[in-house]
This record gives sequence, C-alpha cells and structure tokens, in this order.
Amino acid sequence: MNKKVVYMDYAATTYTKPEVLEEMIPYFNQYFGNPSSIYSISRETKKAIDIARDRVAKALNADRSEIYFTGGGSEADNWALKGIAFAHKEKGNHIITTKIEHHAILHTCEYLEKYHGFEITYLDVNEEGIISLEDLKNAITDKTILVSIMFGNNEIGAIQPIKEIGAICKEKKVFFHTDAVQAVGNVAIDVKDMNIDMLSLAGHKIYGPKGVGALYIKKGIKIHNLVHGGGQEKARRAGTENVAGIVGLGKAIELASDNLDTHNRRLVELRDKLINGLLEIPYTKLNGPTGEKRLPGNVNVCFKFIEGESILLMLDAMGICASSGSACTSGSLDPSHVLLAIGLPHEIAHGSLRLSIGDGTTEEDVVYVLEKVPAIVQRLRDMSPLYDEFVKGDEK
Ligand SMILES: *Cc1c(COP(=O)(O)O)cnc(C)c1O
Repeated sequence: MNKKVVYMDYAATTYTKPEVLEEMIPYFNQYFGNPSSIYSISRETKKAIDIARDRVAKALNADRSEIYFTGGGSEADNWALKGIAFAHKEKGNHIITTKIEHHAILHTCEYLEKYHGFEITYLDVNEEGIISLEDLKNAITDKTILVSIMFGNNEIGAIQPIKEIGAICKEKKVFFHTDAVQAVGNVAIDVKDMNIDMLSLAGHKIYGPKGVGALYIKKGIKIHNLVHGGGQEKARRAGTENVAGIVGLGKAIELASDNLDTHNRRLVELRDKLINGLLEIPYTKLNGPTGEKRLPGNVNVCFKFIEGESILLMLDAMGICASSGSACTSGSLDPSHVLLAIGLPHEIAHGSLRLSIGDGTTEEDVVYVLEKVPAIVQRLRDMSPLYDEFVKGDEK
C-alpha cells in the first residue's frame, strides 16, 4: 500500500527540482575533472562554476566576484561572523545580533563570546518577532564591528526591516551581515539597494542540493578565512569545489528568481488558507506576523494545553510531515528560543506546530491537513490533565 505523504516541512529542507538534478548529473561522471587542473574536462567544470556564480550574483544584484561558494548555510554564517570578528578585533569587540537567529549564528556568537573575548548584544524582538530599529541604533557603540540580523525567520516567518537596518549600519559604519537562508527564493533581495555587506544562503532550502551554499561578501571587505588550504575561491575558501552542488545551487536560484512573483502569490494564498483554518480550532494562537511581514511558506501556531511533539507523532501517522520549533531543537524538550523571545510562556511554547509549505504543496494538501489537525488536537486535549483542569475550572 502506498502511504499518502503530505510534506509540510519545506523550511527544514526541500526536494531537489528535476531540472536542477538534471543539470547536476554530468558533473558527477562526464565532467568530473578537478576545476584547478588544466585539461579540457576540467575547463568544463570551471566554466560551470562561473555560470553558477553569475546566476547567484544576478539573483542578489551582486557582482560575480562577490560570491563565494561554501558547504552550506551554516558554514556561510560561521565564516561571516568569525571572519569579520577576527579581522577587525583591533577596531572593536562588539557584535550585535538578535535573540531569534538560527543556531548557526547564535552558537557562533556564544563561541566568540566564550573563547575570544567578544561582547554580543542579543536584540529583543516584539510579539511578532521583529526588532526595533531604535534598539538597534542605541546598541551600536564605537566598539561595534558587526551587525548580523536574519532576513526571514525559519520558525515563525518574521521578515525584518532589512533595508532600514542596512541604512543604519551604513550610516554608523559597521558591517551588516544577514542570514537569508529562508528568504532567498521567497523575497526579492537586492544587496545594493538594501546596503547588505554580507549574505548567507543555502541550496537545500531553495530546491537545490544539500551541503552547498554561498556567502556574498561585498567588494573590499576585509575578512579572515574560515577554511584554510588550497587556493580555491580566490584563495578565500579552500577545498576542491563541490562542482555538481554548485551547479545545482546556480540552477535552483535562477529558477527561484524567475518564478518569484507567481511562487509568492500561490504560497501566500495557501498559507493564509491554512492559517485561517487552524485558527478555527479553539485556544489556538498564530505565532509571528501576518501579511507581507511573513515568509510566504510559513505557518506556526500554538495549541494551548498540548505538546508539540505529540502532535507531530500523530500527524506522522497520517503521513503529514511537520515540525515543532525547528528541526535542530525537536528531539530535545527545550522550548524554542524563538517562541520564548516573542513572549510565549514555556508551557504554551511547547504546544507549537510549524507547517511550512512550498512548490510541491497543493490545495488538496491544505484541505487534508485542515481535516486532520482539529481531531488530533481534540484527542490530545482529551488526554491532557491541563485541559481537564481548565475545562473543570470553566464549569465551576
Ligand atoms: C537551514 C538554515 C541554516 C543552515 O543552513 P544549512 O545549509 O543547513 O547549514 C541557517 N540559517 C537559517 C535561517 C536556516 O533556515
């Protein structure tokens, strides 16, 4: 029997699109030469990397010389933070970020704090998950060297006022890095117009392969290397290139930019249908902003009185793939740092469900999920001592 699968975890990873995979395959067997060698099969691989670099640059309105390929989003984030911290520590030891970043940023900041004497300011966010520009301005001192604020949040979909942040950083002469892993392919990005100095992205969140990403570094910025070794990537990122992966990333980002508007409109419609349907379940709260301030594929709700983990298991039994908090934290019982940052108390943050939709999501999928979730929530509440107490309290 073929079990029905409804995948709603696109924020964790996407499938690789067939057109992307098709472009990648020759670089495993036909053009497998090392791009640094001089014979002709290697010239083909080198050319393919150049084309991919052009495609990434075009999607961001950057120059191709400003794009460096990495082993994914986490590496790009690590490089931006450590590379700037170590190259500019003479100027200052202060970095500003937010409380709702991905762990690739937060854990790197903690490392710089603990072992290298940096001071980190973690900006608060409001109940929608958005920072205050006033707070940012007030946090910048003459010791500040870097501001790193994510573009779109992976858990609650909040999109930050990136252009305004870029303008503040430019005026105050501090570098501005943004983790745009969730935003690329979902939001229009222009690094020049938005005054972005560095930007991280990853292949597997935009229908490309896993284990490949890129860091945009604006021309002229002094940054230390993260990966030392050979002279690849203009001697800034060592290691034989992941040629097929880079080709896939290039194709994926090109497809995403070409279809940005239609993709967005379709997802926003499905997203809002899903949100409105879920909010009909009693004692349910939407986490994160609505409308344009929310990533088009993100839905995150809390069901009072129940545990996110148990919802996931029951959804899985019905073939629905979803997530509670983020993939990196589920499996532990710690509530999401993002949900705590938007002010949810621990017990409610535990009952969260993230459904993230994407290109493969159909209206039928949304209807199926809206059919199944209310009964699951009711069943779990019927078993919940908290709910029992609450109902009895109500009856008194
Ligand atoms: C997925 C993700 C990352 C990490 O990217 P990897 O390619 O998995 O290393 C970083 N930041 C955000 C916002 C993400 O969603």
